[in-house]
Amino acid sequence: MSGMLFQGVEGETDGTHLLHDVALKGHDFSCAIQGLYRESALAAEGWVTLGESIPQGLKPDPFIGPACGTAKAVPFQNSSAPELLLTTGPCSLFPGAEGDTLHEECGVIAIHGHPDAARQAYLGLYALQHRGQESAGIATADGQHLANIKGMGLVSEIFTDDVIAKLTGSMAIGHTRYSTTGDSALLNAQPIRVESTKGLIAIAHNGNLVNLGNVRSRLERAGAYFQTTSDSEIIVQLIAHSPAGSLVDAIADSLSQIDGAFSIVMMTRDRIFAARDPHGFRPLSIGRIKNPDGPDTIIFSSETCALDLLRAEYLRDVLPGELVMVTEDGITSRQYSTGTPQSSCIFEHVYFARPDSRVFGRWVQESRDQMGRQLAREAGVPADVVVPVPDSGVTAALGYAEEAGIPFRLGLIRNHYVGRTFIEPEQRVRDFGVRLKLNPVRNLLEGKRVVLIDDSIIRGTTSRKIVRMVRGAGAKEVHLRISCPPTISPCFYGVDTPSKRELIAANNSIEEIRRFIEADSLAYLSLDGLLQCCRGEEQTGYCTACYTGNYPTEWVDVDEILPATMSV
Ligand code: SF4
Repeated sequence: MSGMLFQGVEGETDGTHLLHDVALKGHDFSCAIQGLYRESALAAEGWVTLGESIPQGLKPDPFIGPACGTAKAVPFQNSSAPELLLTTGPCSLFPGAEGDTLHEECGVIAIHGHPDAARQAYLGLYALQHRGQESAGIATADGQHLANIKGMGLVSEIFTDDVIAKLTGSMAIGHTRYSTTGDSALLNAQPIRVESTKGLIAIAHNGNLVNLGNVRSRLERAGAYFQTTSDSEIIVQLIAHSPAGSLVDAIADSLSQIDGAFSIVMMTRDRIFAARDPHGFRPLSIGRIKNPDGPDTIIFSSETCALDLLRAEYLRDVLPGELVMVTEDGITSRQYSTGTPQSSCIFEHVYFARPDSRVFGRWVQESRDQMGRQLAREAGVPADVVVPVPDSGVTAALGYAEEAGIPFRLGLIRNHYVGRTFIEPEQRVRDFGVRLKLNPVRNLLEGKRVVLIDDSIIRGTTSRKIVRMVRGAGAKEVHLRISCPPTISPCFYGVDTPSKRELIAANNSIEEIRRFIEADSLAYLSLDGLLQCCRGEEQTGYCTACYTGNYPTEWVDVDEILPATMSV
């Protein structure tokens, strides 16, 4: 365990801090994971002291998750500090909890066979920026060398022309990440480059592993030294320690040992690999640019919107449980895992993916349009205007308006220039945040019965501000319609849902939520309705765990970890 960092996730509404930050502010904490960590390593890192007997006033609530070694620490008496969850790695329960919106963890891109691969990767990441805005990186290879540059910030801020010029070669992988703020953010930015017994490997990963703790400690006992706290590095260490003779066999062997969500791209000095987990949680598509004078350029991307920007033709998705390899001889593929029922993340269709992308074989725009129409059929209400909460509610609102025969109006305007500056873990900044981001168009709302369309209610605080804002602009009635079912359980697969006790729908009836957000009426899309909208004619299997609590992987017991205790 020596040298590992710890992340702490606050159990309060004001988001995520590194435990380090909290400790430096003078709060006293102890940890319920007795004897698991070396005090000396913590002292060296400047962290709180662990491993002591539990002092009076500390109510330990130990839980050592089989995935990541997670425990809840409760502050000493007289401390105003909130409870923390402590974990030995990136918290697969709540990788970050910021504000009242959900964040995707990552977007990945890979380019094979292009003379300016770095610039292609840069453009691809640009199109995937919505999947993560905290850090980004690009690694390139030219057959001999493997270069890697990553930094904090937006893709356009990090990769200036001068920086891209340093990344030479015809192969590239890239990554854009949403992460918690703090010291470990750059350390864990990707691609991660690791020297292994199988050679130099760079990896970029979208998703979260759920059996991380078990695998990591087994590897450490076998002598693995981790350079980051990222679960992505576990995949590389598994490859390095695999007894398989060839690299491709070692990758297949390693991927079959991990569980959870992973859409990954990997690169060695002369090859690119792409793979999806057997459940197919996160999307990953394959595209091609035809080159009349040589081999085609092959591209892997989290979403097809990046293929469009690169003028690449969409070929197909990487299948769940499939490992694809691209060399100068072309593409080969194998199923490293079969028989797992597909459980692709339905929230990609509800919120995360861009509407101009095709994920899990279906256009996101089509799914969202259908969600709006179905919502109008299931929970229509007499009104004068349909107003989306921009940007993600727009497509569903168009569908609702058309189905209900009510005019669609852009009654809320989003300021697109509010960026990361205001993503800060301080409530006073957040309170300002909604008003900075959204402004009502008074002449469209005054005296009107308004149907507001949004894609989710997480804690309810943002929804309440928006309802108040619309009413404050003169609306006579405000009816909120949500284009998915109530979010009642956290995500373990790469979406930073807050704890169950912070999810308003996990602890309150729809009527109680309506009262809290101060709407005249509130309705959600049914689960059957959502599934119907995201399937169409296809037979796609979806994960709906955040709406049902039924998780497709085995180890999770949300009720045990996070009892619902809070109500509004
Ligand atoms: Fe997606 Fe929800 Fe499943 Fe997470 S729990 S993978 S957000 S559907």
